[in-house]
Amino acid sequence: MIAMPFEKPQHRIAVLADQCVQCGLCLPVCPTYGLDGNEAESPRGRIAIAAALARGQVAPSPALREPLDHCLGCLNCQRVCPAGVQYEELLVETRALLGPAPSRPGWLLALVKRPALSRWLRRLARWTGATYWLPALPGFRAGSAGRAALSLLALKGEERAATREAPTPAQPMATVALFPGCAASVQDAEAERAAQTLLGAAGFRVVRMPAFCCGALDAHDGDAAGAAASAARVQQAWRAAGADHLVTVTPGCLGTLRHALPGVRVDDPYGLLAEHIERLRFRPLALRVAVHVPCTQSNVARSDAALMKLLQRVPELNVQRVPAPPYCCGAAGSHVLQFPARASLLREDMLSSIHTLDVQRLLSSNIGCRLHLAAGLAGQASTLPTMHPLTLLAQQWEP
Ligand code: SF4
Ligand code: SF4
Repeated sequence: MIAMPFEKPQHRIAVLADQCVQCGLCLPVCPTYGLDGNEAESPRGRIAIAAALARGQVAPSPALREPLDHCLGCLNCQRVCPAGVQYEELLVETRALLGPAPSRPGWLLALVKRPALSRWLRRLARWTGATYWLPALPGFRAGSAGRAALSLLALKGEERAATREAPTPAQPMATVALFPGCAASVQDAEAERAAQTLLGAAGFRVVRMPAFCCGALDAHDGDAAGAAASAARVQQAWRAAGADHLVTVTPGCLGTLRHALPGVRVDDPYGLLAEHIERLRFRPLALRVAVHVPCTQSNVARSDAALMKLLQRVPELNVQRVPAPPYCCGAAGSHVLQFPARASLLREDMLSSIHTLDVQRLLSSNIGCRLHLAAGLAGQASTLPTMHPLTLLAQQWEP
């Protein structure tokens, strides 16, 4: 659960850090510790830095904030911690205390958060062949945030799925508000349509909320004011939706949405669909697929079992799961734009795991992860198609 800055953030950070008993059990599941082999790049090291900063024992410096900026927010550490350290809250509070990192690509993030503008720019990039001439310009050279963004923009989205629309149930079990997000509303429109079809087929009435940023990018980047403004917008849109549950097809938004809407059931669609699985029938599909479970789906949504249950309902589908933590693909919200070289290094192990599974399609629920993995596959001249799992399920749904 993401927490906004406390009234006395230094005190709150120190209290959170004191929960850590320094056992080190989180180190083997931390992707950045695996990458650097350096205590400062581990959860325990970051907690110690946060505590020292909060207590005023050290002054903020680029060397001290760098390991905090490198953190992926994957929450593998929080999941295994025997002392119950609320690592995400500690990270968000500490980043808010320090303010946005100087390396933060502010103009790119501002663009990502505006769905209409990024949709238009995506089309423009394709029409003008921007991938060929933009890399020559400063700001788009190899290893830059601009180049990373360009490689994601240039990817072909999911093919338009042959998904049938489910009729609106005459007596719906409940009304579900679908939150489209910002980048996902542009790049994952197909998955959104798939969610509407499947939820309708399972007996829910679906209303679509307006597309805007939930605030996760700001909260994780230390922009507390931006995150608070987004939370207020989420609350307003939720009230207008008049729904019973809120779902999003992007697990990266879940933690922020849950924080903005305490007491509301906020989930990805898999849990609701798995609860009513007897209402869903699927056509056979003779295909071998790899399922990448994003860190947020595994550690926040905790819906990986529901997803696997749904996919196993598709006759003849051979489902292989990409090995779980300590891997993280490195996309991690804005991390891929802020630290593209580190994001590429983190992706390498995961791509190797995917290749060993020898599959015909790669499924992943998080648009950031999927685009980052697809860019890596394209860089290896692999033609493995990628897809949101909901899109596959909706394609195979049998009315
Ligand atoms: S597992 Fe928990 S208590 Fe142990 S070092 Fe990591 S954060 Fe601290
Ligand atoms: S959130 Fe992930 S990257 Fe950050 S310290 Fe925890 S395990 Fe490491």
